[in-house]
Amino acid sequence: MKKVSVIGSTGSIGKKAVDLLLHNREEYKVIALSAYSNFALLTHQAKLLDAEYVVISNKEFYKNLKEELLGTNIKIEADLINIAAIPVELLIVAVVGIAGLEPVIHAIENGTKTIALANKESIVCGGKLLFKKAKENGTQIIPIDSEHSAIFQILENNGQCIEKIILTASGGPFLNYSNEQLKNATINKALTHPTWNMGKKISIDSATMMNKALEVIEAHNLFDINPNKIEVIVHPESVIHGIAVYPDGTNFALMALPDMTLPISYAMSWPQRSALSCKLDLAKQNTLTFQAVDHERFPAVNLSIKVLNSHSPDVYSIVLNAANEVAVNAFLTLQIEFLEIIEVINLAIENFSNYTHISSLSDIIYIDRESRAITQEFIDNKTCNQKSLSM
Ligand code: NDP
Ligand code: MG
Repeated sequence: MKKVSVIGSTGSIGKKAVDLLLHNREEYKVIALSAYSNFALLTHQAKLLDAEYVVISNKEFYKNLKEELLGTNIKIEADLINIAAIPVELLIVAVVGIAGLEPVIHAIENGTKTIALANKESIVCGGKLLFKKAKENGTQIIPIDSEHSAIFQILENNGQCIEKIILTASGGPFLNYSNEQLKNATINKALTHPTWNMGKKISIDSATMMNKALEVIEAHNLFDINPNKIEVIVHPESVIHGIAVYPDGTNFALMALPDMTLPISYAMSWPQRSALSCKLDLAKQNTLTFQAVDHERFPAVNLSIKVLNSHSPDVYSIVLNAANEVAVNAFLTLQIEFLEIIEVINLAIENFSNYTHISSLSDIIYIDRESRAITQEFIDNKTCNQKSLSM
């Protein structure tokens, strides 16, 4: 049986991974699961899957988890890093945010050979260091992000001399909003994605199109491809996930239902494929449409290109990611308005200047912390100014 751990098992991706494990119990031995605060679901999953270890990252819930697990053999580990360090044949990383990076690095360094990686923030921030460590330790990273899973699958068969890759974007819930409507965009509307049902943070990222901005950097790091060869196209139906374009004008596109079960299952069974019931019915699909990104209303994608073409792409990728995590949280807690998310990220990038070289995980953590502090300062100043204006 394949030994597997899932970190972030209680989230949108994590739950789908757990479902796949439950449907294929004879193939997998579950070693560890983790959550941030949802101890009840974590306990339920651990019992169902007969997991050996669990971790709850928010220590406030440690006692609750302990009580729920009384009478079972399931052990509680103190830290996410501890379970990431247990070598397994497959580690599924479904944590959100840069919190996923340290466990990924620990897993690589401790002998895990395959990582199915949904956590795009760790690819964005880990950059060259992450892939260098993976190479040195012989760890295969398989992306779960649907666009990157698509490109990964295409390149596996046709990796030679590609001209460019194209990532599709649904356009999010505000695709047809005017500038005026964007100004007043509410949290609820921003959380309601037309095609994908996802966690809160990535839903907001999708509404600002920062999700695609992160994905451009993710693709650059994953496939070692020049930023000028990465394009984004809006495709609201989300049936085509990624396209590789070859010099003779041939386009290889991957089509599948917009259901994350597919890329998760692919990453889990790679290099094989499992049978699934999510089949695409093209006749029912009727139309597939495409349009260019409106960079004026959605400046995020250009911001990522600017970062990748800067003098320190690795550093500014971390700044962009950190500023975005802080700004999304500020939007969700009513500290800033929707359009201010990108404004604040821009300010953080323009004002970050005190670090230029990354050689270790602690450099990344330092840049992340500094960027968060700068971003929060901009947000606090904004809130103060707005309060004094309204007085
Ligand atoms: P969710 O918010 O639904 O789930 C996040 C998971 O991580 C939960 O298990 C959560 O625990 C845990 N978690 C949250 N914060 C922390 C932390 N600080 N430390 C440790 N664990 C934490 O996110 P999604 O499943 O939507 O996304 C997960 C990742 O996958 C993201 O990086 C996202 O960009 C990427 N992704 C997601 C897609 C999707 O369809 N959802 C598509 C493509 C990529 P708890 O439940 O207790 O809060
Ligand atoms: Mg994606």
